Amino acid sequence: MSLHNRIDKRVLKEIIANDPTQRKTLSFYKYFKIDDTQAYRDRLYRDWEALGCMGRIYLANEGINAQMSVPLDNWNEWVEYLSTDSNLTNVPLKIAVEDDSKSFYKLKIKVRSKILADGLDDSTFNPWNTGRHLSAKEMNEAIAQGAIVIDMRNHYESEVGHFEGAIKPDADTFRQELKMVEEMLEGKEDEKVVMYCTGGIRCEKASAYFKHKGFKDVNQLRGGIIEYAHQVQESNLENKYIGKNFVFDERLGERISDEVIAQCHQCGEPCDNHTNCANVECHLLFIQCDACKAKYEECCSDECNDIIHLPEEAQRERRKGKQLHGDARNVFKKGRFNGRADGSISKVPSVDQMST
Ligand SMILES: [Zn+2]
Ligand SMILES: [Zn+2]
Repeated sequence: MSLHNRIDKRVLKEIIANDPTQRKTLSFYKYFKIDDTQAYRDRLYRDWEALGCMGRIYLANEGINAQMSVPLDNWNEWVEYLSTDSNLTNVPLKIAVEDDSKSFYKLKIKVRSKILADGLDDSTFNPWNTGRHLSAKEMNEAIAQGAIVIDMRNHYESEVGHFEGAIKPDADTFRQELKMVEEMLEGKEDEKVVMYCTGGIRCEKASAYFKHKGFKDVNQLRGGIIEYAHQVQESNLENKYIGKNFVFDERLGERISDEVIAQCHQCGEPCDNHTNCANVECHLLFIQCDACKAKYEECCSDECNDIIHLPEEAQRERRKGKQLHGDARNVFKKGRFNGRADGSISKVPSVDQMST
């Protein structure tokens, strides 16, 4: 039995599009010691593949970071499976706020040196000494009290949604984000700092790092925006998150509030729907309204639109020898945004998508 899925991506997407299976999308992470990551990986792949699970899961000696979907019919069995692994018993699951059952189209489990690309040397500080975890209610209180609220995500994430009054660094990666935040917060070591991200993992690292840097009152949103949205709904709290929560799967976002705070990168109309350019060679992540979607046939530019109309053979010829994206993605960079008139878009290469 193969422990990898080698079927073409487009074929798999087609299969999922027509698959009536109801799935639950979720994410979780846990820092714990894994000695034999390859054996752990192969076991998970075998057992979760058998349950029809899909997703993108990273394993390292330091733990697991998973974004995945589980068929509803196998949900109980999968949760039970977690409980048979002492490291994963009662691990907090962040369940998707909006779900179309098509968040992932295959199961991918990768062994990495770290489960989060943070660029930090963990031996230089205590990664376990994290900040105080805030509930949704405490988050609202902290915002009301005027705490410094920091969005620990990348620019293309905070562009479509963020907390009221949050600082949103224009970072391409989490590594860059940490550096920028450190510069921004210089001299504010005594103030109350609250950080948040999608599901909480980035703040685990960032909060420990900033405590190490001398910050005295470091707080983080427990379970990230996903858990916040659930608590707001369940406890009927005021929602202080505006717009969408960007997610790292096929859905590319979950709506948290009705406000649309971003614009189409091609025509400038209000829009907060991310898309990936239909030209696989480009695959740029950008915001595109329905009108532009129709006009450019889901491409980011006329150039890409021309390419998708080339015969398949010619397209393949163009891609030959080129390094396609893998785990990195091309991301539209709003700071370099110009030339809307012809709908062309400038690109920045290779942003790591290993987050949440
Ligand atoms: Zn548009
Ligand atoms: Zn393109």
